[in-house]
Amino acid sequence: MSTVKLDGEGAGEEIEIEKKVFGPVIVASGGFAGDSHGLLARYRPDLAALPSTNDARPGSSDLLTAVGSALVDMHFVQLHPTAFVDPKEPEMALKFLAAEMLRGEGGVLLRGRDGTRFVNEMQTRKTVTKAIVDYDEQTVGGLRLWDVDLVMDEGSYKTAKSHVDFYMWKGLMHRGEVSELGPGAVASLQAYADAAASRSRDPFGRTSFGHWKLLHVTPESVVYIGKVTPAAHFTMGGVAINSNSEVLNGNREPIKGLWAAGEVTGGLHGENRLGGNALLESVVFGRRAGEGAAKVWEKTFPFNI
Ligand SMILES: Cc1cc2nc3c(=O)[nH]c(=O)nc-3n(C[C@H](O)[C@H](O)[C@H](O)COP(=O)(O)OP(=O)(O)OC[C@H]3O[C@@H](n4cnc5c(N)ncnc54)[C@H](O)[C@@H]3O)c2cc1C
Repeated sequence: MSTVKLDGEGAGEEIEIEKKVFGPVIVASGGFAGDSHGLLARYRPDLAALPSTNDARPGSSDLLTAVGSALVDMHFVQLHPTAFVDPKEPEMALKFLAAEMLRGEGGVLLRGRDGTRFVNEMQTRKTVTKAIVDYDEQTVGGLRLWDVDLVMDEGSYKTAKSHVDFYMWKGLMHRGEVSELGPGAVASLQAYADAAASRSRDPFGRTSFGHWKLLHVTPESVVYIGKVTPAAHFTMGGVAINSNSEVLNGNREPIKGLWAAGEVTGGLHGENRLGGNALLESVVFGRRAGEGAAKVWEKTFPFNI
């Protein structure tokens, strides 16, 4: 409320007027993959206490539902199969992503316990994750982890050198020997090396082996090793928006003055997001939200009373 003095007819008289400001507000507060005991546990209890590649911060959809926003697809959550487990602090919820290229350049996944291989590493995130979580869950400091070794030979290391050197600098990978891995590692890696050299078919159907060059695997063979585990990576669900990035209420009508863009929104990716589309959606819908909000701002401000 504010008080203004009239001029012209009734000059000098003071009246009270009520100003309601309808935004413009743009919400771009990200997803809730890192909110493992909050929104993630609420919408996907089966994923509670998972580590995440995202900050452990509260999701913001409650703020939005409080002003009438509708939510969509909240139960669709993408897991990434390979997030590094830092040996110095395995209980840390925030994990550093072990990029897909490590597997693409030839990296192999072995079970930590026995050194067996268990999946075609080139499969989708969903398939590789499922193969991992079907075995041997552990709890470390209240966090759910799986014991998997990501292993690269000299050939794959050389192609991904700048990445692996960075991970080694961070203490997430190290240069070691096959003997450090589980007891079945020599046999598992030899079968993989045979398939990579076209001496046999890969038992898991992998057909591309990146730059793997190790042909004869011994316990002393040099390899690059990092511990990895699945982690909550991206939330497909969030606040409902229309094609202009306006936030929608339960009747699918725009809420005046409210826009949203990026991972806080839902419904764009369906059940699972394709790689690269998160940044794309942020650019497209962020721009639309900005344009819409700017138009309202121009019309509304400055107040001319
Ligand atoms: C390791 C990693 C690699 C990725 N790689 C790719 C890739 O290669 N390609 C791709 O397309 N996508 C990728 N993604 C996904 C993509 O990066 C994210 O979906 C995208 O960055 C989300 O952007 P955003 O602006 O919506 O949210 P964010 O980048 O999460 O930013 C949200 C911001 O809002 C702030 N915030 C949250 N809540 C509040 C609050 N209540 N009040 C004030 N501020 C708040 C946060 O602190 C944060 O700064 C990756 C994600 C990760 C984690």
